[in-house]
Amino acid sequence: MEMKNESELYPGNFIRFLGTAGTRFVMLSQRRSSGGIWFSYGGAMGVIDPGPGSLVQICAASPPLSAIDIDTLILTHRHIDHSSDLNVLVEGMTLRASEPRGRVILTEDCLEPGDSVILRYESRRVELIHTHADEARTEISNRVSVESVLHKHHGVQCYGLIFRGDGLPSWGLISDTVALPNFSARYSECELLVINVAMPLPRARLDHMSIPDVESLLQALYPKLAIITHMGGFLLDMGPEEIAASLSTERTSVAAAQDGMVVDLEAAGGLAGLHRGGAMRSPRDFLRERPNIYQGLKIL
Ligand SMILES: [Zn+2]
Repeated sequence: MEMKNESELYPGNFIRFLGTAGTRFVMLSQRRSSGGIWFSYGGAMGVIDPGPGSLVQICAASPPLSAIDIDTLILTHRHIDHSSDLNVLVEGMTLRASEPRGRVILTEDCLEPGDSVILRYESRRVELIHTHADEARTEISNRVSVESVLHKHHGVQCYGLIFRGDGLPSWGLISDTVALPNFSARYSECELLVINVAMPLPRARLDHMSIPDVESLLQALYPKLAIITHMGGFLLDMGPEEIAASLSTERTSVAAAQDGMVVDLEAAGGLAGLHRGGAMRSPRDFLRERPNIYQGLKIL
């Protein structure tokens, strides 16, 4: 897999980061965009977690993308930074259709009566609405399925995703969650793993992955490429690119996502360019070197 220059045409199967913001502060300031992830994979085209600005990022994308081409919309959970643009993207997905079109995959609590994240009149325009169930595989094209992976995230139902396509590399998303012991087994087929990492260090009561969680996970799980995204302000202050590079192992290249980054899902080889010469510092060293930012937090 490799990252593409924006001026080229899109590869046949790719993801594009419409946003890389994590935490409310980063979302509200739009220090990073919060549009989720666009995917084109095995004939399916869609957006995962269309947060604030998702439509704007689609319209601003170069090469162009269009909400009208979407056939699948997936929410990993209902939090506003993952769901706010769902209805406008349903509008795009169904614009040209005289009959209900496309599918939406979301959690059951997204459809709570009286508190649904999808407006009733928009939901009527959608052909299929699926709710996540752990280990369930939902077909999103005749070549592609998406498996739901149960997560643990404060106050809401939340699921990660594993995409499988005939003759295509599998890839996955670990969304907002604490690190769960079954992740290494569940995601073992993925050649690309995108991981929401909101903060540098674990914090009590915050159900998010942290840098040491990724480090531990990559001892047991070996995707060719892992990309951290959904980053909070502390992590962005620290330079996520360097931290990501320090997480790389012999088997896995690790990169930090940037807004607009495109990843070719089929290109072989990983991200050798991100490995730096000389001695690699461990992620823990990075954290120790910035004690002021982390007063009151413990380095594990
Ligand atoms: Zn969340």
